[in-house]
Amino acid sequence: MLPRQVILPPLPPTANFNKSFNPNVCHVCKNVLPWKLISCQLCGMIFYCKEEHKQLHANEHNEICGALVKLKNQMDTFCRRDVTTTKERLDLKYEHIKFIQQEMHRRLQPYEKQMIFYEKSCLACRTNINLTDTCPSCLSANSCSDHALKDFPHDCENLKICMQINMMHVSHPEIFEYQRMLPRFSHIMESATFDNMVSLIQQLFYCDGNTPSWSLAHICYTDILSKPLTLFYGMRRANLFYNSHIKLFAVHIIVNDIEILRSLQTWEFLLHILGEYKILIVIMIGRNIPASQTGAVEVCEDCNKYLRELQYECWHMSYVEYTNSAFYRKSNVVVAFDAKFMQEISGRTILTLMDEKSPLLITTGELFEAEQNVRKIQQVLGSSLTPIIYERNRFASYQPHRNHDSRFVYFPNYHLIIYSSLVSANDPIQTSDFPPAE
Ligand SMILES: [Zn+2]
Ligand SMILES: [Zn+2]
Ligand SMILES: [Zn+2]
Ligand SMILES: [Zn+2]
Ligand SMILES: [Zn+2]
Repeated sequence: MLPRQVILPPLPPTANFNKSFNPNVCHVCKNVLPWKLISCQLCGMIFYCKEEHKQLHANEHNEICGALVKLKNQMDTFCRRDVTTTKERLDLKYEHIKFIQQEMHRRLQPYEKQMIFYEKSCLACRTNINLTDTCPSCLSANSCSDHALKDFPHDCENLKICMQINMMHVSHPEIFEYQRMLPRFSHIMESATFDNMVSLIQQLFYCDGNTPSWSLAHICYTDILSKPLTLFYGMRRANLFYNSHIKLFAVHIIVNDIEILRSLQTWEFLLHILGEYKILIVIMIGRNIPASQTGAVEVCEDCNKYLRELQYECWHMSYVEYTNSAFYRKSNVVVAFDAKFMQEISGRTILTLMDEKSPLLITTGELFEAEQNVRKIQQVLGSSLTPIIYERNRFASYQPHRNHDSRFVYFPNYHLIIYSSLVSANDPIQTSDFPPAE
């Protein structure tokens, strides 16, 4: 396992280089030379250590470069309004991405989105000209000749972890092939005793509970295990598993991040701890799901023997559309991971969630987002509706994620909110029954 302190050595160019982007390293060899890099002269948004590496990437870069140049030429249309707050800047970036995707008639790859979100600019004034300083530790903060980096603090330690994990997609892609871990995860979790993420990671990897000594791989595993564990232990903690003759457990997930499609394999371990339920169906619903499809995830030998199944369904439609469609299937629980209800979910969706009459589990990275969700639900359904659980999630991810266009990070699923349903008032569970995590 890769120890966390290791500075990644320069790599020979590989086919993997498009798996990460950072404007302070050569895009091709990932050499760290922020003061020596040459940029693409046309768009100015991607950097290389030498002409040769620029040429190596030219064919792949051409398409987005053309769209970026077109965008810059039309910048007036985009910049006529005042953009000062983080939210306004972020909205503008989403507009840019929309424009570029329309120009290219395709979705942006993850590294191309990072080019837009993490454009090299001064962290104080956001200019992208006369950049003179780069933080040598996290490679994620730059400043211009009018501003000194030290006057504008950034979350250097966590941004450094973000940067290293981003680079690990290039240097150690095998860490992200979760299916390799599957049999091990499932068998350990069947017998392990843990009630928080730290103690689980200790038992899975025989490491100590001192999180700063964890390897980057440990941190990445908390990120992919966080969703299924939050769901299972949240349900159990809120006493929402009912005895049922039906052997099937269906989860609706309102999707805003399609990353979940890639890590669904890790949900297999739930079959080992769901007790009576033999079939787990994960139903992902959202407009940004690329295409509707259904299928089954490979399960371990034991699950095959006991006829346990993990099925998935993806529906490219809104939640309201889904519940009115022919594909609709009643849920045991509805989940919104890292939910921003204020911005993304309409009052109509909340009314539909009420009609569903299932438990609702919401997680957020930031406290203000958790508060906004609770308030939005009260605005639509009345102020007496309060969650039964509203706390710091003991199965939150320990992987920092960079906030787009900000100097700070968040941890996915940090805050946990559970309603037994949206139909009527919920009695809060006494926190003394189950002390919150540290
Ligand atoms: Zn290079
Ligand atoms: Zn270019
Ligand atoms: Zn500046
Ligand atoms: Zn830094
Ligand atoms: Zn299994």
